Parts: sequence; C-alpha cells; structure tokens
Amino acid sequence: MELPSQVKLVEVGPRDGLQNQPVMVSIAHRVELIERLAQCGFSAIETGSLVSAQRIPQMANSEIVYQHIHQRPNAEYIMLVANQQGLARAISCQAKTIAVFCAATDAFSLNNIHCSIDVSMASIQTIVGQAKEKNMAVRGYISCVLGCPFQGVVQIDKVCELAAKLYEYGCYEVSLGDTIGVGTPLQVIELLSAVKKVIPTDTIAVHFHDTYGQSLANIFAALQTGIHIIDSSVSGLGGCPFAPGASGNISSEDLVFMLNGLSIKTGVNLDELIATSWFIADLLDRPPTAKVTLANAAKH
Ligand code: MG
Repeated sequence: MELPSQVKLVEVGPRDGLQNQPVMVSIAHRVELIERLAQCGFSAIETGSLVSAQRIPQMANSEIVYQHIHQRPNAEYIMLVANQQGLARAISCQAKTIAVFCAATDAFSLNNIHCSIDVSMASIQTIVGQAKEKNMAVRGYISCVLGCPFQGVVQIDKVCELAAKLYEYGCYEVSLGDTIGVGTPLQVIELLSAVKKVIPTDTIAVHFHDTYGQSLANIFAALQTGIHIIDSSVSGLGGCPFAPGASGNISSEDLVFMLNGLSIKTGVNLDELIATSWFIADLLDRPPTAKVTLANAAKH
C-alpha cells in the first residue's frame, strides 16, 4: 500500500467552522484563532467569507480580520468569495488567495445560492478570470460530491465535469466536499479515481464531514489514491447552514493524530493544536470533543 509521505492540511475552522456556530466570535478572537493555527503549523487557512452579513452574520467584518493577521511568508490565507461584490471586497482588502464554490447538483445550487449550476459556473469563470488579472490565487470548491440533501444521488460525471472546468478556469486546487457526510470509502475511491483522470492529482483536495463518522475512513481511502491535500477544522467545527442534517467537518486534531500514526508529515504540532481546540471551544461555550479530552488527559 502506497501512502504519501507528507500532506498539506487546509484548516477551515475560522471560516467553515465559525460560520455554523450560534455564538458570535469577536474580530480580535477570530484573528487570534487564525494566528494560533498558523503557529500550530498550518500553511493554508481559511480566514473568512465575503458574503452578506445579514445572511451569515458570523462572517461579518472578514476584511478587518484579514487585515489584522500577521501573514507568514509562503502561507495561504484564503478568503471565500460568493459573487462579484465579494470579489470587489477581496480586491479592496488586498486578499492574495480567494476561494469560489459551486455545487454538484442543481437542487443544492438553487437552494444555496439561488441559481443553477450553469449560471453559477459562468459567474465563477468571470470571477476567476478577474482575480487572476489581479494576481490572486483561486481555490475552487465543489459541494455535495457524494450526496445531496435535496436530490440524493450525485453523478460522478458531473463532479468530473465541474472539476475540469474549475481547473481550466485557473483554480490551483479543487476541493471536493462531501457536504452532508454520506460518502463511504469505496465511493471515495471511485470518485477520486474518476476525478484524477481529468485534473492532476496534485490539485485535488478532499473535504469530509463527520455526519456518520466516516471522515477518517474516507481520508484513509483518499490517501491510498495518492491524494495529499486535506481540508479539516479545528475542534471539528462546522456543518453547513444550507444543508439540513450536515454535521461538523473532520476535526483537525483527529486527523493529525491519525496522520502522525501513519508517519505522514503534516508540519502541524498536535499539542499546540489541541490547546487551540480548547481555546476556541471555550470561546464558543462548547465542550471540546471527547476525543480532545482524552488526548489531553493522556498528555498529563
Ligand atoms: Mg465543510
């Protein structure tokens, strides 16, 4: 069995995680969370989202958060952009890396962003083109790659078609999201084997949710296909406000624990990560996961 010797982790907690929490985190604490995660060793961090503050109040003031981060060289600080207004805001706060997103089903796309896949892809193509003119790097997301809360089954061909388009538009990475966490390992292998035929393996990331506890098994399956870019969220924060039933993202500390056990390098310090998980859990008035408690207990 061949596994990669090292992986790149993309920490999504400050955006994908916090946007789903009922507690509002202050600008200063959002900045502190991002800086602590960088200190843990993450070289790619989602910092916020330039969307309507009425729709997602947790992500209000993402520009101010971004401008207060002491950016480390060679690290990616990613800002999610939903439309032209978001791009204009990203340009005005001098974001270097943005992320755009689409869905693998029309049903989810219509529900989440009120337009069909075709309309959303046309908009993404324009946004990516304009961002590239400003020398921004663009990450692409496809949601619902292994199941849709409204439509059920998702066609692998559709995911491949969208991945190929995002890559062709100029995205440096395409993150495949199992938004509602219904995928299982053989499906993951089947999907990734197909996507690897249309875009380079080095540009494919996976983004799993733990609704049925499948994330680590799915990541292990993905690693066996040669994938080495993985999204995860500190303290397992996350879900999706527009995907009924979706639970948290794979927790970064569970993932780093597994990767350490597999002798796969991540560059992330597990002890500091666990301390950061406690930090954000305290701020959210949310108990850390049992696994975090156990890991910490084992340390003392
Ligand atoms: Mg997520």
